[in-house]
Amino acid sequence: MNIKNFFQQIKHIFQPQVELQDEVIVKFLRILEDVRAEEMSCDDMFNRLDEFVEAEVRSQDAEKLMPLIREHLDMCHECDEEYEALLDVLENTK
Ligand SMILES: [Zn+2]
Repeated sequence: MNIKNFFQQIKHIFQPQVELQDEVIVKFLRILEDVRAEEMSCDDMFNRLDEFVEAEVRSQDAEKLMPLIREHLDMCHECDEEYEALLDVLENTK
């Protein structure tokens, strides 16, 4: 049997998983991105704070997805206040 034809035939079986795989890849890339950056500036922090808080409000594992943000919040009082305020707003508008 021709391998190419074989994959063509079974391709549809894997199709439903494509979306899920993309999601996993995106998450994985995010983790890599966080690990790569040694230090996060407050500007970077503010840019991603929305995303972090949103994940947290949705009870996703925000800290595992974006460990550097959590780390920065622990070290930086200014950003931590911003984070608390944003979390407050989001939780009260649910
Ligand atoms: Zn900061």
